[in-house]
Amino acid sequence: MQALPAAALRCGLAAFLVAAAHAAEVSLDVGHTLAARGATSARGTSEFDFNRNLAQQLGDELRARGLAVREINFDGLVDTLAARPQQAAGSDVFLSLHHDSVHEDLLQEWDWDGTMRTYSDLHTGFSLFVSRNNPHLADSLRCASAIGASMRRAGFDAALHHATPLAGPARQPADASNAVFYYDRLVVLYRTTLPAVLFEAGVIKHREEELALLDTARQRRMVDAIATGIAACLSVDSAAAIPATARNEEAQPR
Ligand SMILES: [Zn+2]
Repeated sequence: MQALPAAALRCGLAAFLVAAAHAAEVSLDVGHTLAARGATSARGTSEFDFNRNLAQQLGDELRARGLAVREINFDGLVDTLAARPQQAAGSDVFLSLHHDSVHEDLLQEWDWDGTMRTYSDLHTGFSLFVSRNNPHLADSLRCASAIGASMRRAGFDAALHHATPLAGPARQPADASNAVFYYDRLVVLYRTTLPAVLFEAGVIKHREEELALLDTARQRRMVDAIATGIAACLSVDSAAAIPATARNEEAQPR
């Protein structure tokens, strides 16, 4: 290997110090929109409302830890799926926040407050998704695993149902113990220039888990756990964590 000239080394060090002086920036994306609100909980609340509440609390927590936050679709008015990662360009990581449903074959009906609603008490737990088509798969997976591990340490249960065909299309596990799965064709995960993770906080079709997800003390613990995972992920030198075989395709850490 040819030795680098001293000037090149100094230049590299200066670039690193400049990068270190800027707070890492997390793009937080509120899943779904005001017009298309995603799943509906067992008691009739829209997924968008759950997602936005979680995103607002997580944004506050990340800022309190000294990270910069770029808010995406907090107003629920984003036009297209592709616009979400476009708005995140230039930040360090993209995290899309969602709440989970189950396959419609599993839904049952019940009367809640005088209205017929659908629910399923079969599956619970958080989960995370990354795409093998993302240009930074290794970094995406590392961040997803860090968030999942932090969630488990905080006492949250990892979802088990995504790898089984009972609850819809089976997803191939990427890091099953931390509830990380591959979801290759999600636009927000692959049509992007930066590491991207989709987080499902829990199953709002499950009657008990819906109530747990609305518990404010538990929300605080969840936000703390997610933020701890993100901070751990962003504090690692990404080049050192990427397998040598994948390193050629990786751009510099952003
Ligand atoms: Zn969703």
